[in-house]
Amino acid sequence: MTTATLTHIDSPQTRARDIQTTILFLLVTVGAAIGLPTYAYYYDYSWLDWTMFAILYIYTGLGITVGYHRLLAHRSFDCPDWVKGVLLIGGGWAFQNSGLKWAADHIRHHARCDKDEDPYNATWGFWHSHCGWLFVRDPHRDPKYASRLKQDRVVVWQDRYYIPILISGLIFPFLVGFLYNGWVGGLGCFLLAGVGRTFFVLNSTFCINSICHIWGKQPHGTSDSSRDSWWISLITFGEGYHNYHHMYQSDYRNGPKWYNFDPSKWLIYGLSRIGLAKSLRRFS
Ligand SMILES: [Zn+2]
Ligand SMILES: [Zn+2]
Repeated sequence: MTTATLTHIDSPQTRARDIQTTILFLLVTVGAAIGLPTYAYYYDYSWLDWTMFAILYIYTGLGITVGYHRLLAHRSFDCPDWVKGVLLIGGGWAFQNSGLKWAADHIRHHARCDKDEDPYNATWGFWHSHCGWLFVRDPHRDPKYASRLKQDRVVVWQDRYYIPILISGLIFPFLVGFLYNGWVGGLGCFLLAGVGRTFFVLNSTFCINSICHIWGKQPHGTSDSSRDSWWISLITFGEGYHNYHHMYQSDYRNGPKWYNFDPSKWLIYGLSRIGLAKSLRRFS
């Protein structure tokens, strides 16, 4: 491990971004807990706020599951750069750090599952694996988990412009609301489709690291703590079939049966049918 490679993954800039991410997470949580009900009490949310909430929940959620997770971390399919860019903007709008950082952490999660090096080690309890890991210094970061990702120019681009991308994800719903109903409309859309949507997507993703490593069945293997929770798939676009995913991690499907609720696999399959995805990997 050279100093040059270590610098990128554990530099003062990286640690500063970790602190920014933690502060933003706290702001989103406080904003959702206080701002959302306060606005509802005085103004109520419009149909546009709820529509934007749904659209951005789906776009940013799939940005994480299809873009960050199945494409970057697991290479379960391939796609043109512009499709990857659209997915990574969605992932950036979910406030879960850049695709480079997220996928490097996730590759380490699979490689060292349930061990000290696992960034969201579920053997340390529910809260640590859910969101507590965000608030502790991670001494096990290793640049080897990011080396393959750093060869990808779209991943490097998204990492470089992560903060402007993230901010644009809050400005966008504000502008839509503002055009509809001035400052009050802008604030409502910002709170529901920006702050509130971010809070719910964050926590749905966290449930995979916590609930899907603590409760549920292990029909595909018991070599680690991963578990299948079909009901978590309902809020995470199919990521609840986590035991299957840990046993066959490069499969583009997390729910392998046709009736498993896995919108992420449906999107990847749909993209392949119109020529926007290829090399879909699956285990029989
Ligand atoms: Zn896992
Ligand atoms: Zn995974």
